[in-house]
Amino acid sequence: MGTIVIDEQFDKCRRMLKDDISRKRYIHSLGVSDTAACLAMRYGFDIRIAALAGLLHDCAKGLDDKEMLATARKGGLEISEVELANPELLHSKAGSVLAKEKYGIEDEDILGSICWHTTGRPGMSMLEKIIFLADYIEPNRANIPWINDIRQKAFTDIDEAVALACRNSIDYLQRSSRTVDRITIDTYEYYKDHLK
Ligand code: FE
Ligand code: FE
Repeated sequence: MGTIVIDEQFDKCRRMLKDDISRKRYIHSLGVSDTAACLAMRYGFDIRIAALAGLLHDCAKGLDDKEMLATARKGGLEISEVELANPELLHSKAGSVLAKEKYGIEDEDILGSICWHTTGRPGMSMLEKIIFLADYIEPNRANIPWINDIRQKAFTDIDEAVALACRNSIDYLQRSSRTVDRITIDTYEYYKDHLK
């Protein structure tokens, strides 16, 4: 898959990332980066920033459980019981730490968008919504119910798309009897008024 090469910083991060995560995850990350750039065009957001955040959103996926927990702890955010039991869930919090310390990202909005990309959060910034949705709809993703509706909606009403994606994730996790993060429910509650 080809990807846009925005500038030197982007390309340096891309090369580092390729060594840090699996090939499958790397391809997904390029898809999220491209999709985030498209959403940025649509909503008048900085394309370079969106592409970089999308590229790095899963940068911590290659850490083992022990590294994951240690890295996430450095971020200083509260770590839930559910996260402790499933360190994999911490890749977003750990990712924001790694993006800063290893990849040299200082933009707080980029770090926030990495930190909240899995769960979302109430009152997300434009970049946070872009990355949350780009992760959900990028072209390599398949077999998510309603994915094509969410893809279209992402480009017409971003808040409604966020609500749909949250409701979908909650339904899916509940159907497969998995724990739903409290914050995803809060995010859904926050955005559901945008549902038409
Ligand atoms: Fe992720
Ligand atoms: Fe992802």
